[in-house]
Amino acid sequence: MEARLRAAQIAVIARHTPAMIAVNLISGLMLVAAFGAQGLVVPATAWLAALAAVCMPVAFRVYRRRHKLPPATVGPKVIRSATINAAALGGIWGAAAMLFFNPDRHGQIILVCIIAGMICGGSLALSTLPRAVVAFATPIVGGSFIGLLLGAKQPIDYFIAPLLATYSTAIILAGLSQGQQFATRVIAQARAEALARHDPLTGLPNRVAFESALFTACQRLEKYGERFALLYIDLDDFKVVNDRYGHQAGDQLLKQMAGRLSVCLREVDMLARLGGDEFVMIARGLSSSADAATLADRLAGAFNGAFTLEGGNLECRASVGVALAPTDGATPNALINRADAALYAAKRERNGAFHLFAHGEHKEVIDRRALAQDIKGALGRGEFFLQFQPIQELASGRIKSNETLARWRHPERGLVPPVQFITIAERLGLIHELGEWIMFEACREAALWPADVGVAVNVSPEQICDDSIVNIVEAALRAARLSPRRLHLEVTESAILAANGAASAIKRLHERGVAIVLDDFGTGFSSFDHVRRLPAAGLKIDRSFIAGLPERKNQAIVHAVAHLARSLALDVTAEGIETQAQLGFVRAAGCTHGQGYLISRPQDAETMRATLAVDRAA
Ligand code: C2E
Ligand code: MG
Ligand code: MG
Repeated sequence: MEARLRAAQIAVIARHTPAMIAVNLISGLMLVAAFGAQGLVVPATAWLAALAAVCMPVAFRVYRRRHKLPPATVGPKVIRSATINAAALGGIWGAAAMLFFNPDRHGQIILVCIIAGMICGGSLALSTLPRAVVAFATPIVGGSFIGLLLGAKQPIDYFIAPLLATYSTAIILAGLSQGQQFATRVIAQARAEALARHDPLTGLPNRVAFESALFTACQRLEKYGERFALLYIDLDDFKVVNDRYGHQAGDQLLKQMAGRLSVCLREVDMLARLGGDEFVMIARGLSSSADAATLADRLAGAFNGAFTLEGGNLECRASVGVALAPTDGATPNALINRADAALYAAKRERNGAFHLFAHGEHKEVIDRRALAQDIKGALGRGEFFLQFQPIQELASGRIKSNETLARWRHPERGLVPPVQFITIAERLGLIHELGEWIMFEACREAALWPADVGVAVNVSPEQICDDSIVNIVEAALRAARLSPRRLHLEVTESAILAANGAASAIKRLHERGVAIVLDDFGTGFSSFDHVRRLPAAGLKIDRSFIAGLPERKNQAIVHAVAHLARSLALDVTAEGIETQAQLGFVRAAGCTHGQGYLISRPQDAETMRATLAVDRAA
């Protein structure tokens, strides 16, 4: 802060310096011309030489720096040298007042004019630096009094003394107060700027500061070839932490995260928080992907060891995406896109590791952005439709219900899979509208099926975070005249964790007779607490465990979940059954229901109606 204040003080003085030097030299020449004519050529010339000796080096320095921007910070040495210069100049003018205050009326008028002008003009020009004002004005005033004492011949000459004392006191005081006001203003401005460029929670630079640092880094790359790496760091499942432990704990986690990441920082690097749990680092001088990988690894390693939060200790992992400049791009936009793509890929791998940018990933980010554009209005344009996939009762081989799967027929890209568009719709907040449409359509279609066939609808975390889902479900059932017993909602564990209101919404739905099924069971936190607390009617073993059969670990998991479900009198569905062997295994393991390509692929609504007619006829 002090260094910035000093820089601002010097910048104003530097701006005035050329004019000040010109005024000094013109006044000096006038003085020599006036007193040289009165036989004081030698002392006048010697005095002018001294004045020039002080002014010239300053003029030279100003000339040399004419094209440079004023520095943002300045050390105390610069202030000291400016004060010494001001004192030297003041001393020279004080000497003039002593040397040339002679009884000659004309000479006196000129001297008094010049001295008064110097005190006023100089103090004004130096007013941002109070100590320079004092250093400059004091010797002039002192010299003038001495000259007056030595040279005054008539009583009227002494009239100058009180005038001089009054004016100089007034001007010095004005200079000091100006200086103080200037300092207050600069400090307030610097504080406001610092606030605008800092994240108040972690104390790290914020997005604004990061963007300008990245811009500067790109400029240095272009000018001096200085390479650097851009690293995006993102906590895994931060939203879950926030919702589960509260925002205060979330804040604590972010602060500790900032602390741990800062330890990995060198002096030349910059770490900023972009918002939420997104951090970014600019690492200067990193030129090879091996170096970047080492750093990224160190960053990811900073998350080893539990974080201590109010609600207890918490293990957290982060993903890191890296882009190298200039290998992956040389402009801020290109680098941001690529680091973002790498982060996205790292997140998908979910191994708490880093990910260097690879070219295919960039395309994916562009795709995601384009899709986000296109999805707005897609519902209104009728681009969504539903498919239904049977869930078979393994004992009887009959279709017990159909799972509703949303499909997006993109006008140019063709069929976009739900894993891509559901997350986009969630992020854009469009999932509510889309989810409501799916709920109404699914119920309407189910009303056309035999009365013993249910319909399962997948529900996103965002949809179930409050009781509005209850109203939507009720309205959809009413509109289709469908019994609530025929509707099953598939909810993932992360949905329950991510939303505070999920448990209450689930309970209310259960009270209305709607069954809740825990989808993708085994992949999330798999907390038995959910199974115990929530009125779930069934579990769906995630298809990754079925795909992993007959590996022993997967066998053990399928057995364990089926056993758990049976002892709690819950239905258990194995999803993703593709082979007879898998079907045989899950049946033997005690799964009550099965779903997968072996039984049936997802079908359009019309085909499903026909399938059901055949199934019931059999
Ligand atoms: P999910 O709820 O676990 O749905 C099952 C997914 O497994 C479906 O993929 C289905 O087509 C696929 N599947 C079924 N049998 C097999 C099989 O034998 N082998 C393989 N490899 N896959 C099989 P889909 O339709 O791509 O949906 C993926 C995920 O997208 C769903 O996972 C669900 O989480 C989400 N999703 C789909 N429709 C909706 C929806 O209407 N609303 C919400 N919120 N999410 C949806
Ligand atoms: Mg599902
Ligand atoms: Mg599933």
